Amino acid sequence: MLLCVSASLQAAPRPVRPIPAIERVVIISIDGLRPDRLLLADTPVLHAMVKEGAYTFWAKTTAVSITLPSHVSMLTGVTPGKHGIEWNDDLPLSTIVYPYYPTIFETAKLGGYTTAMVAGKSKFSPLTKPGTLDYVFLPEKNLDADSLVADEAVKAIKQIKPDLLFVHFPCVDRAGHHFGWGSSEQLTAIALADVAVGRVLAALDEAGVRQSTFIIVTADHGGAGKTHGADDARSRHIPWIATGPGVRKNFDLTQLADLELRTEDTAATALYLLGAPLPMYLDGKPVLSAFDNVTK
Ligand SMILES: [Zn+2]
Repeated sequence: MLLCVSASLQAAPRPVRPIPAIERVVIISIDGLRPDRLLLADTPVLHAMVKEGAYTFWAKTTAVSITLPSHVSMLTGVTPGKHGIEWNDDLPLSTIVYPYYPTIFETAKLGGYTTAMVAGKSKFSPLTKPGTLDYVFLPEKNLDADSLVADEAVKAIKQIKPDLLFVHFPCVDRAGHHFGWGSSEQLTAIALADVAVGRVLAALDEAGVRQSTFIIVTADHGGAGKTHGADDARSRHIPWIATGPGVRKNFDLTQLADLELRTEDTAATALYLLGAPLPMYLDGKPVLSAFDNVTK
């Protein structure tokens, strides 16, 4: 387990946020969650978020549709060809290779925010550049229960109430590789992931910060058969469900025919809400259509 809690990072003055009522951002990724499976599974927490927020079940992950490159795109706002993390394993190297572009954790730290990442797979180390995260949990071996990730996310919220938190649940993908996307076993895994998301939301409630938090639930890819990959619509489509102050209620973003939501937009939206400058190199754009009263 890699765990660090750093109190020594210097806090800078915070930028002006465009929606002041949003004080923090939580991004939850359910690995391998294909949107139609989410809708079929017993997912009361996610269904409640849909009613409470803006959503689409037609968002798109990266063209490669695999875990590590797609998560790095989700958390940097640039495509795999630009961020350079194009492999999908723990590399047998003595030093960790980091993306060519800053993660949202790095940018948020520069803005004086506290940052945390809790992930269920060991290969996420390229997202842990020193000095960018106040709190990190990475397992030595991939976790085999999303409840274990929820335990760690709850700890992170209790300990530091991070302004930017990323949580990764691995077991829907695991069920897909073992039993298949479309299997009943995977529906069971999705129901358990829903419970785990509910525990994160409850921890935010308990910490008294849920009402000032923007939350996105999304995924890194879907799948078909027992695998996932490039050029397959079943792998490429991901859910994107957002809730928080100022977010449109029960709003299906596919009402906007011109909006094609991509995983890089998750990073851009987080940066926008934290008042960070949006660099020209970003491939993502903030999903302004998810909000009431924001100039689109
Ligand atoms: Zn994955």
